[in-house]
Amino acid sequence: MVTSVFESSKIDRFSLPDEKGHFGQYGGMYVPETLMTALYELEKVYRSSKDDPSYKDELNYYLAEFAGRSTPLYFAERLTDHVGGAKIYLKREDLLHTGAHKINNVLGQIILAKKMGKKRVIAETGAGQHGVATAAGAARFGMKCVIYMGAVDMERQALNVFRMRLCGAEVVSVEAGQKTLKEAINEAMRDWVTNVKNTHYILGSALGAHPYPMMVRDFHRIIGQETKEQILEKEGRLPDELIACVGGGSNAIGMFFDFLEDESVKLTGIEAGGTEITCGNHAARFEGGKLGVLQGCKTYILQDHDGQINLTHSISAGLDYAAIGPEHAYYRDRGRINYGYATDSEALEAFQQVSKLEGIIPALESSHALAFAIKRAADLSKDQILVVNLSGRGDKDVEQVEKILTNV
Ligand SMILES: *Cc1c(COP(=O)(O)O)cnc(C)c1O
Repeated sequence: MVTSVFESSKIDRFSLPDEKGHFGQYGGMYVPETLMTALYELEKVYRSSKDDPSYKDELNYYLAEFAGRSTPLYFAERLTDHVGGAKIYLKREDLLHTGAHKINNVLGQIILAKKMGKKRVIAETGAGQHGVATAAGAARFGMKCVIYMGAVDMERQALNVFRMRLCGAEVVSVEAGQKTLKEAINEAMRDWVTNVKNTHYILGSALGAHPYPMMVRDFHRIIGQETKEQILEKEGRLPDELIACVGGGSNAIGMFFDFLEDESVKLTGIEAGGTEITCGNHAARFEGGKLGVLQGCKTYILQDHDGQINLTHSISAGLDYAAIGPEHAYYRDRGRINYGYATDSEALEAFQQVSKLEGIIPALESSHALAFAIKRAADLSKDQILVVNLSGRGDKDVEQVEKILTNV
């Protein structure tokens, strides 16, 4: 256990990452030489665009009119009463167009791609949420769109494949290795190397080589900015704790970033505990992961002694990945963000409980954060406040959950 005392006065969150993309010892740009130019160009365009009023106006327009921002900060009154402890608020990213927070990042990147004169976008997807958001964005901006998806995931998420195709995207089945997300990312990188002149790669989480972790984080900061404003309006004070699930880590860092300097606010990221914390049965990188390099960045990775990537498992495809975003590793070392995990069965329980008590069917990913929040709230007093990031809706998961609940 790393327990360092966090001193906010010593953290300048805007100084991170450095110009080479490092968050302390994490992050960086571990990619083939051929991609370095593309990454540098992307960084340059991003840095010059992010404070450009015309870029910001266009992005804000689409966030509001196409995606449906701002999202409500909803007081889950019946869940709170049921648990009998701290007040539980839900940040309703599930209400966004295409069903999850992913669209915030897709819009940010696609408008950047347009600015760079790129006519084609590609993306990887695991569960299909990022693929659907990318396909929808590409349709809106009239861009050619290719989505790489593992063959196994395509079978598991057939409906999302159809959604992408309806939006005009070409979905390419990846047959290598485990035929899931990791292989899909490899294939997308290969495409990018070959077609970098006219193609932008819309990476879907706060992961990969610099500038992606920084850029994706920035596109999701709106979650935390809105949360802060909304909770101050509703409660007149900051919350005691923010809780979010962590796959690559984009919805979590997006919600946490604008609270990093508010020492009174505890920040907690929840990983996928799977069936149990033993090799191959979970995706909790901070429970048994080690420092390594995967797909462009240095971070905590589930790997064996030879550096081969371990198999991972989670009931939720969106949390089922062997590496965690580098910024999370950094703030964990500093003691600023705490991490825990929820198991498959705990998430499944929270999924049903929140559906029944609130009439809100949460994504299985978000259900991990909810499971943890329900336990935490019970230990706190009624005048304390928790905010959970409801990163997505559970429509995509109902078929899978029905199967699990009726077969066992
Ligand atoms: C993709 C996804 C996640 C995990 O990704 P992060 O980058 O960790 O946010 C979580 N929740 C939902 C609903 C997702 O679609």
